[in-house]
Amino acid sequence: MALIVQKFGGTSVGSVERIKNVASQAIAEHKKGNQVIVTVSAMSGETNRLVALTEGVAGYMQKREYDVVVSAGEQVSIGLLSMAIKSMGTPAKSYLGWQVRFLTDSSFTKARIRNVESERIQKDLDAGHIVVVAGFQGIDSEGNITTLGRGGSDTSAVALAAALKADRCDIFTDVDGVYTTDPRIVSKATRLEQISYDEMLEMASLGSKVLQTRSVELAKKYSVPVRVLSSMEEGGGTLLTKESKEMEHVMVSGLAHNKDEAKITIQGVPDTPGIVATIFGALADANVNVDMILQNVSARGETDVTFTVPSSDYKEAMDVLIGPMNQVKAKSIKGNPDIAKVSAIGVGMRSHSGVAQRMFKALADEGINIQMISTSEIKVSVVIDQKYTELALRVLHDAFELDKDIGDRVYS
Ligand code: ADP
Ligand code: ASP
Ligand code: MG
Repeated sequence: MALIVQKFGGTSVGSVERIKNVASQAIAEHKKGNQVIVTVSAMSGETNRLVALTEGVAGYMQKREYDVVVSAGEQVSIGLLSMAIKSMGTPAKSYLGWQVRFLTDSSFTKARIRNVESERIQKDLDAGHIVVVAGFQGIDSEGNITTLGRGGSDTSAVALAAALKADRCDIFTDVDGVYTTDPRIVSKATRLEQISYDEMLEMASLGSKVLQTRSVELAKKYSVPVRVLSSMEEGGGTLLTKESKEMEHVMVSGLAHNKDEAKITIQGVPDTPGIVATIFGALADANVNVDMILQNVSARGETDVTFTVPSSDYKEAMDVLIGPMNQVKAKSIKGNPDIAKVSAIGVGMRSHSGVAQRMFKALADEGINIQMISTSEIKVSVVIDQKYTELALRVLHDAFELDKDIGDRVYS
Protein backbone atom coordinates (compact mmCIF):
# COMPACT_ATOMS: atom_id res chain seq x y z
CA MET A 1 0.00 0.00 0.00
CA ALA A 2 1.38 3.40 -1.00
CA LEU A 3 0.61 6.84 0.42
CA ILE A 4 -0.22 9.34 -2.31
CA VAL A 5 -0.73 13.10 -1.96
CA GLN A 6 -2.76 14.63 -4.78
CA LYS A 7 -3.05 18.40 -5.27
CA PHE A 8 -5.67 20.06 -7.45
CA GLY A 9 -5.44 23.77 -8.37
CA GLY A 10 -8.22 26.33 -8.77
CA THR A 11 -9.24 25.52 -12.35
CA SER A 12 -9.38 21.82 -11.50
CA VAL A 13 -11.98 22.51 -8.78
CA GLY A 14 -13.57 25.46 -10.62
CA SER A 15 -17.11 24.05 -10.88
CA VAL A 16 -19.34 21.40 -9.35
CA GLU A 17 -18.66 19.14 -12.35
CA ARG A 18 -14.93 19.52 -11.93
CA ILE A 19 -15.10 18.85 -8.19
CA LYS A 20 -16.92 15.60 -9.00
CA ASN A 21 -14.16 14.77 -11.48
CA VAL A 22 -11.52 15.36 -8.77
CA ALA A 23 -13.51 13.15 -6.40
CA SER A 24 -13.45 10.35 -9.00
CA GLN A 25 -9.70 10.68 -9.44
CA ALA A 26 -9.08 10.51 -5.69
CA ILE A 27 -11.36 7.49 -5.38
CA ALA A 28 -9.62 5.74 -8.31
CA GLU A 29 -6.29 6.07 -6.49
CA HIS A 30 -7.90 4.85 -3.25
CA LYS A 31 -9.44 1.84 -5.01
CA LYS A 32 -5.93 0.75 -6.05
CA GLY A 33 -5.43 0.06 -2.35
CA ASN A 34 -3.51 3.28 -1.64
CA GLN A 35 -3.95 5.80 1.12
CA VAL A 36 -4.89 9.17 -0.35
CA ILE A 37 -4.61 12.76 0.87
CA VAL A 38 -6.02 15.45 -1.41
CA THR A 39 -4.98 19.10 -1.09
CA VAL A 40 -7.05 21.66 -2.93
CA SER A 41 -7.00 25.35 -3.77
CA ALA A 42 -10.00 27.63 -3.75
CA MET A 43 -12.29 27.43 -6.80
CA SER A 44 -10.77 29.42 -9.67
CA GLY A 45 -11.21 33.19 -9.38
CA GLU A 46 -12.27 32.92 -5.74
CA THR A 47 -8.99 34.02 -4.14
CA ASN A 48 -8.81 36.99 -6.53
CA ARG A 49 -12.37 37.90 -5.57
CA LEU A 50 -11.49 37.81 -1.88
CA VAL A 51 -8.34 39.89 -2.45
CA ALA A 52 -10.46 42.50 -4.26
CA LEU A 53 -12.87 42.62 -1.31
CA THR A 54 -10.01 43.41 1.08
CA GLU A 55 -8.90 46.20 -1.24
CA GLY A 56 -12.46 47.51 -1.36
CA VAL A 57 -12.85 48.01 2.38
CA ALA A 58 -9.41 49.26 3.32
CA GLY A 59 -7.09 51.75 1.69
CA TYR A 60 -4.00 50.06 3.07
CA MET A 61 -2.83 46.50 3.59
CA GLN A 62 -3.79 44.88 6.91
CA LYS A 63 -1.88 41.64 6.61
CA ARG A 64 -3.35 39.66 9.52
CA GLU A 65 -6.93 40.33 8.44
CA TYR A 66 -6.04 39.82 4.76
CA ASP A 67 -5.03 36.25 5.64
CA VAL A 68 -8.29 35.69 7.52
CA VAL A 69 -10.23 36.72 4.41
CA VAL A 70 -8.24 35.15 1.57
CA SER A 71 -7.87 31.77 3.29
CA ALA A 72 -11.67 31.42 3.22
CA GLY A 73 -11.88 30.16 -0.38
CA GLU A 74 -10.26 26.84 0.45
CA GLN A 75 -12.80 26.11 3.21
CA VAL A 76 -15.52 25.90 0.59
CA SER A 77 -13.59 23.69 -1.83
CA ILE A 78 -12.48 21.13 0.80
CA GLY A 79 -16.02 20.82 2.14
CA LEU A 80 -17.52 20.37 -1.31
CA LEU A 81 -14.88 17.85 -2.36
CA SER A 82 -15.34 15.74 0.78
CA MET A 83 -19.10 15.76 0.21
CA ALA A 84 -18.60 14.66 -3.40
CA ILE A 85 -16.26 11.82 -2.40
CA LYS A 86 -18.65 10.60 0.31
CA SER A 87 -21.64 10.73 -1.96
CA MET A 88 -19.74 8.47 -4.36
CA GLY A 89 -19.39 5.92 -1.58
CA THR A 90 -15.92 6.42 -0.11
CA PRO A 91 -15.42 7.85 3.38
CA ALA A 92 -13.77 11.27 3.41
CA LYS A 93 -13.00 14.03 5.88
CA SER A 94 -11.96 17.63 5.30
CA TYR A 95 -9.56 19.70 7.38
CA LEU A 96 -8.51 23.34 7.46
CA GLY A 97 -4.85 24.22 7.96
CA TRP A 98 -5.23 24.91 11.68
CA GLN A 99 -7.06 21.62 12.26
CA VAL A 100 -4.28 19.50 10.77
CA ARG A 101 -1.92 21.86 12.27
CA PHE A 102 0.23 23.41 9.65
CA LEU A 103 2.39 25.42 12.02
CA THR A 104 3.92 28.46 10.28
CA ASP A 105 5.87 31.57 11.21
CA SER A 106 3.95 34.84 11.57
CA SER A 107 4.84 36.46 8.22
CA PHE A 108 1.24 37.10 7.22
CA THR A 109 0.59 36.83 3.43
CA LYS A 110 3.84 34.89 2.89
CA ALA A 111 4.23 32.59 5.89
CA ARG A 112 6.68 29.71 5.89
CA ILE A 113 5.74 26.28 7.18
CA ARG A 114 7.65 25.19 10.28
CA ASN A 115 5.99 21.87 10.99
CA VAL A 116 3.10 19.71 9.80
CA GLU A 117 1.51 17.45 12.38
CA SER A 118 0.61 14.11 10.88
CA GLU A 119 -1.14 12.16 13.68
CA ARG A 120 -4.71 13.16 12.98
CA ILE A 121 -4.43 12.58 9.25
CA GLN A 122 -2.65 9.27 9.68
CA LYS A 123 -5.43 8.05 11.98
CA ASP A 124 -8.08 8.86 9.38
CA LEU A 125 -6.05 7.30 6.59
CA ASP A 126 -5.64 4.11 8.62
CA ALA A 127 -9.41 4.09 9.16
CA GLY A 128 -9.91 4.09 5.37
CA HIS A 129 -10.77 7.75 4.78
CA ILE A 130 -9.63 9.93 1.94
CA VAL A 131 -8.36 13.03 3.76
CA VAL A 132 -9.02 16.39 2.11
CA VAL A 133 -6.81 19.24 3.30
CA ALA A 134 -7.07 22.96 2.59
CA GLY A 135 -4.05 24.28 0.74
CA PHE A 136 -2.49 27.71 1.14
CA GLN A 137 -3.08 28.15 4.88
CA GLY A 138 -1.65 27.53 8.31
CA ILE A 139 -1.59 28.85 11.85
CA ASP A 140 1.19 30.57 13.78
CA SER A 141 2.28 29.82 17.33
CA GLU A 142 -0.10 32.52 18.62
CA GLY A 143 -3.10 30.89 16.94
CA ASN A 144 -3.39 33.43 14.09
CA ILE A 145 -4.42 32.25 10.64
CA THR A 146 -1.66 32.64 8.05
CA THR A 147 -1.39 32.13 4.28
CA LEU A 148 1.60 30.90 2.33
CA GLY A 149 1.65 33.35 -0.59
CA ARG A 150 -0.21 33.12 -3.91
CA GLY A 151 0.04 29.66 -5.41
CA GLY A 152 0.77 28.27 -1.93
CA SER A 153 -1.32 25.11 -2.22
CA ASP A 154 1.57 23.48 -4.08
CA THR A 155 3.66 24.04 -0.99
CA SER A 156 0.96 22.65 1.31
CA ALA A 157 0.87 19.47 -0.77
CA VAL A 158 4.62 18.94 -0.83
CA ALA A 159 4.89 19.73 2.90
CA LEU A 160 2.23 17.11 3.64
CA ALA A 161 4.00 14.59 1.41
CA ALA A 162 7.28 15.26 3.23
CA ALA A 163 5.71 15.08 6.71
CA LEU A 164 3.84 11.85 6.04
CA LYS A 165 6.68 10.37 3.97
CA ALA A 166 4.37 9.91 1.01
CA ASP A 167 5.44 7.69 -1.85
CA ARG A 168 4.36 10.29 -4.40
CA CYS A 169 3.07 13.85 -4.64
CA ASP A 170 0.98 14.40 -7.77
CA ILE A 171 0.31 18.06 -8.62
CA PHE A 172 -2.71 18.11 -10.94
CA THR A 173 -3.20 21.36 -12.84
CA ASP A 174 -4.63 22.80 -16.08
CA VAL A 175 -1.60 21.86 -18.23
CA ASP A 176 -0.22 18.34 -18.64
CA GLY A 177 3.23 19.01 -17.19
CA VAL A 178 6.09 21.45 -17.09
CA TYR A 179 6.87 22.86 -20.53
CA THR A 180 9.96 24.45 -22.06
CA THR A 181 8.14 27.73 -21.44
CA ASP A 182 4.58 28.84 -20.66
CA PRO A 183 2.55 26.92 -23.28
CA ARG A 184 -0.16 29.58 -23.14
CA ILE A 185 2.30 32.08 -24.61
CA VAL A 186 4.51 30.01 -26.89
CA SER A 187 2.47 27.49 -28.87
CA LYS A 188 5.62 25.59 -29.86
CA ALA A 189 6.53 24.91 -26.21
CA THR A 190 7.13 21.22 -25.53
CA ARG A 191 6.52 19.14 -22.41
CA LEU A 192 9.53 18.01 -20.40
CA GLU A 193 9.50 14.34 -19.35
CA GLN A 194 11.62 15.29 -16.39
CA ILE A 195 13.25 18.34 -14.88
CA SER A 196 15.82 18.56 -12.09
CA TYR A 197 14.84 20.12 -8.77
CA ASP A 198 17.44 22.84 -9.38
CA GLU A 199 16.12 23.77 -12.80
CA MET A 200 12.54 23.75 -11.55
CA LEU A 201 13.59 25.92 -8.64
CA GLU A 202 15.05 28.48 -11.05
CA MET A 203 12.04 28.27 -13.39
CA ALA A 204 9.65 28.84 -10.48
CA SER A 205 11.59 31.62 -8.83
CA LEU A 206 12.04 33.36 -12.19
CA GLY A 207 8.30 33.41 -12.78
CA SER A 208 6.95 30.04 -14.05
CA LYS A 209 3.92 29.85 -11.80
CA VAL A 210 3.18 26.19 -12.57
CA LEU A 211 4.76 25.40 -9.16
CA GLN A 212 5.26 27.76 -6.24
CA THR A 213 9.01 28.21 -5.58
CA ARG A 214 8.79 27.14 -1.96
CA SER A 215 7.16 23.84 -2.94
CA VAL A 216 10.17 23.00 -5.09
CA GLU A 217 12.56 23.96 -2.28
CA LEU A 218 10.76 21.56 0.04
CA ALA A 219 10.60 18.81 -2.57
CA LYS A 220 14.34 19.08 -3.09
CA LYS A 221 15.14 19.25 0.61
CA TYR A 222 13.09 16.18 1.50
CA SER A 223 13.54 14.33 -1.83
CA VAL A 224 9.78 14.21 -2.38
CA PRO A 225 8.93 12.52 -5.70
CA VAL A 226 6.77 15.18 -7.38
CA ARG A 227 4.90 14.80 -10.67
CA VAL A 228 3.05 17.62 -12.48
CA LEU A 229 0.03 16.31 -14.38
CA SER A 230 -3.18 17.43 -16.03
CA SER A 231 -6.39 17.02 -14.05
CA MET A 232 -8.36 16.95 -17.31
CA GLU A 233 -6.53 14.41 -19.45
CA GLU A 234 -4.38 11.30 -18.99
CA GLY A 235 -0.63 11.49 -19.54
CA GLY A 236 2.75 10.95 -17.96
CA GLY A 237 3.29 14.59 -16.99
CA THR A 238 6.65 15.81 -15.76
CA LEU A 239 8.73 14.21 -13.02
CA LEU A 240 10.99 16.28 -10.77
CA THR A 241 14.30 14.48 -10.34
CA LYS A 242 17.78 14.86 -9.02
CA GLU A 243 20.17 15.86 -11.78
CA SER A 244 21.15 13.21 -14.27
CA LYS A 245 24.20 13.11 -16.53
CA GLU A 246 21.88 13.29 -19.52
CA MET A 247 20.56 16.69 -18.44
CA GLU A 248 24.03 18.18 -18.54
CA HIS A 249 24.08 17.78 -22.31
CA VAL A 250 21.15 20.12 -22.64
CA MET A 251 22.40 23.67 -22.70
CA VAL A 252 19.03 25.33 -22.02
CA SER A 253 16.02 23.36 -20.84
CA GLY A 254 13.48 26.14 -20.37
CA LEU A 255 12.54 29.81 -20.42
CA ALA A 256 10.71 31.75 -17.72
CA HIS A 257 9.26 35.22 -17.57
CA ASN A 258 8.11 37.54 -14.83
CA LYS A 259 6.06 40.68 -15.38
CA ASP A 260 5.62 41.32 -11.68
CA GLU A 261 8.76 43.32 -11.10
CA ALA A 262 9.54 47.03 -11.34
CA LYS A 263 12.82 48.84 -11.95
CA ILE A 264 14.13 51.73 -9.87
CA THR A 265 17.16 53.89 -10.76
CA ILE A 266 18.83 56.27 -8.33
CA GLN A 267 20.98 58.69 -10.30
CA GLY A 268 23.90 60.97 -9.60
CA VAL A 269 25.11 59.72 -6.23
CA PRO A 270 28.61 60.83 -5.15
CA ASP A 271 30.90 57.77 -5.39
CA THR A 272 31.75 57.16 -1.75
CA PRO A 273 31.73 54.05 0.47
CA GLY A 274 28.45 53.22 2.20
CA ILE A 275 26.08 54.43 -0.55
CA VAL A 276 24.57 51.06 -1.44
CA ALA A 277 24.56 50.01 2.21
CA THR A 278 22.37 53.02 3.01
CA ILE A 279 19.98 52.47 0.08
CA PHE A 280 19.53 48.73 0.46
CA GLY A 281 19.57 48.92 4.26
CA ALA A 282 16.45 51.11 4.09
CA LEU A 283 14.74 48.66 1.73
CA ALA A 284 15.68 45.67 3.90
CA ASP A 285 14.26 47.41 6.97
CA ALA A 286 10.99 47.83 5.07
CA ASN A 287 11.04 44.11 4.16
CA VAL A 288 11.30 44.87 0.42
CA ASN A 289 13.06 42.10 -1.52
CA VAL A 290 15.53 43.43 -4.05
CA ASP A 291 16.33 41.23 -7.01
CA MET A 292 18.76 42.38 -9.74
CA ILE A 293 21.21 45.17 -8.91
CA LEU A 294 23.38 47.19 -11.28
CA GLN A 295 25.82 49.84 -10.16
CA ASN A 296 28.19 51.83 -12.28
CA VAL A 297 30.34 54.90 -11.90
CA SER A 298 30.28 57.55 -14.60
CA ALA A 299 33.28 59.49 -15.88
CA ARG A 300 32.18 62.35 -13.61
CA GLY A 301 32.73 60.13 -10.58
CA GLU A 302 29.02 59.79 -9.85
CA THR A 303 27.25 56.50 -9.26
CA ASP A 304 23.97 55.27 -10.75
CA VAL A 305 22.28 52.40 -8.93
CA THR A 306 19.53 50.44 -10.70
CA PHE A 307 17.64 47.52 -9.17
CA THR A 308 14.38 45.60 -9.41
CA VAL A 309 11.74 44.95 -6.74
CA PRO A 310 8.46 42.98 -6.82
CA SER A 311 5.63 45.12 -8.29
CA SER A 312 3.71 44.63 -5.05
CA ASP A 313 6.52 46.42 -3.15
CA TYR A 314 7.14 49.12 -5.78
CA LYS A 315 5.12 51.93 -4.24
CA GLU A 316 6.43 51.23 -0.77
CA ALA A 317 10.02 51.10 -2.09
CA MET A 318 9.67 54.52 -3.77
CA ASP A 319 8.28 55.98 -0.52
CA VAL A 320 10.92 54.37 1.68
CA LEU A 321 13.75 55.68 -0.53
CA ILE A 322 12.99 59.39 -0.07
CA GLY A 323 14.98 59.63 3.20
CA PRO A 324 18.07 57.68 2.03
CA MET A 325 18.07 59.63 -1.28
CA ASN A 326 18.63 62.86 0.62
CA GLN A 327 21.13 61.19 2.92
CA VAL A 328 23.34 59.99 0.03
CA LYS A 329 22.79 63.25 -1.89
CA ALA A 330 21.36 61.56 -4.98
CA LYS A 331 20.25 63.83 -7.83
CA SER A 332 17.12 61.94 -8.89
CA ILE A 333 15.12 58.73 -8.67
CA LYS A 334 13.26 57.11 -11.57
CA GLY A 335 10.84 54.22 -11.46
CA ASN A 336 9.58 51.97 -14.24
CA PRO A 337 6.90 49.38 -13.48
CA ASP A 338 6.52 48.34 -17.15
CA ILE A 339 9.38 45.90 -17.35
CA ALA A 340 9.67 42.12 -17.62
CA LYS A 341 12.40 39.70 -16.74
CA VAL A 342 13.01 36.90 -19.23
CA SER A 343 15.33 34.05 -18.28
CA ALA A 344 16.95 31.03 -19.91
CA ILE A 345 17.56 28.11 -17.52
CA GLY A 346 19.54 24.88 -17.78
CA VAL A 347 21.99 22.86 -15.69
CA GLY A 348 23.94 22.17 -18.91
CA MET A 349 24.81 25.86 -19.14
CA ARG A 350 27.65 25.25 -16.70
CA SER A 351 29.63 23.45 -19.36
CA HIS A 352 28.58 25.52 -22.38
CA SER A 353 29.83 28.99 -23.02
CA GLY A 354 27.89 31.16 -25.43
CA VAL A 355 24.39 30.84 -23.95
CA ALA A 356 24.25 34.51 -23.01
CA GLN A 357 25.62 35.57 -26.39
CA ARG A 358 23.01 33.50 -28.26
CA MET A 359 20.33 35.11 -26.12
CA PHE A 360 21.58 38.67 -26.65
CA LYS A 361 21.85 38.18 -30.43
CA ALA A 362 18.35 36.72 -30.76
CA LEU A 363 16.89 39.69 -28.88
CA ALA A 364 19.00 42.22 -30.82
CA ASP A 365 17.85 40.73 -34.13
CA GLU A 366 14.28 41.65 -33.10
CA GLY A 367 15.31 45.12 -31.95
CA ILE A 368 14.56 44.30 -28.30
CA ASN A 369 16.69 46.43 -26.00
CA ILE A 370 18.24 44.78 -22.94
CA GLN A 371 18.08 47.00 -19.86
CA MET A 372 19.74 44.76 -17.26
CA ILE A 373 21.49 41.38 -17.22
CA SER A 374 22.23 38.86 -14.50
CA THR A 375 23.79 35.42 -14.78
CA SER A 376 24.43 32.41 -12.57
CA GLU A 377 25.76 28.91 -13.21
CA ILE A 378 22.42 27.73 -14.52
CA LYS A 379 20.56 30.82 -15.75
CA VAL A 380 20.81 34.05 -17.73
CA SER A 381 18.18 36.74 -17.06
CA VAL A 382 17.54 39.98 -18.90
CA VAL A 383 15.20 42.86 -18.13
CA ILE A 384 13.33 44.23 -21.14
CA ASP A 385 10.37 46.46 -21.92
CA GLN A 386 7.26 44.54 -20.79
CA LYS A 387 5.50 44.93 -24.13
CA TYR A 388 8.10 42.67 -25.79
CA THR A 389 7.74 39.75 -23.33
CA GLU A 390 5.80 37.40 -25.60
CA LEU A 391 7.95 38.21 -28.64
CA ALA A 392 11.13 37.65 -26.62
CA LEU A 393 9.92 34.25 -25.40
CA ARG A 394 9.08 33.18 -28.93
CA VAL A 395 12.39 34.24 -30.48
CA LEU A 396 14.40 32.71 -27.64
CA HIS A 397 12.44 29.47 -27.90
CA ASP A 398 13.49 29.33 -31.55
CA ALA A 399 17.05 30.43 -30.85
CA PHE A 400 17.57 27.59 -28.37
CA GLU A 401 15.65 25.15 -30.59
CA LEU A 402 13.49 24.14 -27.66
CA ASP A 403 10.77 22.75 -29.90
CA LYS A 404 13.16 20.06 -31.17
CA ASP A 405 14.08 16.75 -29.57
CA ILE A 406 17.16 17.12 -27.41
CA GLY A 407 19.30 15.08 -29.79
CA ASP A 408 18.29 17.22 -32.77
CA ARG A 409 19.26 20.57 -31.30
CA VAL A 410 22.31 21.90 -33.08
CA TYR A 411 24.20 24.52 -31.17
CA SER A 412 27.34 26.06 -32.58
P1 ADP B 1 -3.19 25.80 -10.51
O1 ADP B 1 -4.41 26.62 -10.34
O2 ADP B 1 -3.48 24.38 -10.90
O3 ADP B 1 -2.26 25.89 -9.34
P2 ADP B 1 -1.55 27.68 -11.99
O4 ADP B 1 -2.32 28.65 -12.82
O5 ADP B 1 -1.01 28.15 -10.70
O6 ADP B 1 -2.45 26.37 -11.80
O7 ADP B 1 -0.33 27.09 -12.84
C1 ADP B 1 -0.53 26.52 -14.09
C2 ADP B 1 -0.21 27.53 -15.18
O8 ADP B 1 1.19 27.79 -15.16
C3 ADP B 1 -0.47 27.08 -16.58
O9 ADP B 1 -1.80 27.30 -16.97
C4 ADP B 1 0.52 27.89 -17.41
O10 ADP B 1 -0.07 29.00 -18.04
C5 ADP B 1 1.52 28.41 -16.38
N1 ADP B 1 2.91 28.14 -16.72
C6 ADP B 1 3.93 29.07 -16.69
N2 ADP B 1 5.07 28.52 -17.08
C7 ADP B 1 4.83 27.22 -17.35
C8 ADP B 1 5.64 26.13 -17.79
N3 ADP B 1 6.95 26.27 -18.03
N4 ADP B 1 5.06 24.92 -17.97
C9 ADP B 1 3.74 24.76 -17.75
N5 ADP B 1 2.91 25.75 -17.32
C10 ADP B 1 3.44 26.97 -17.12
N1 ASP C 1 -5.97 29.87 -3.71
C1 ASP C 1 -4.62 30.36 -3.55
C2 ASP C 1 -4.25 31.32 -4.68
O1 ASP C 1 -5.07 31.57 -5.54
C3 ASP C 1 -3.62 29.26 -3.41
C4 ASP C 1 -3.39 28.43 -4.66
O2 ASP C 1 -4.15 28.51 -5.62
O3 ASP C 1 -2.40 27.66 -4.66
O4 ASP C 1 -3.16 31.83 -4.69
MG1 MG D 1 -0.87 27.34 -8.78
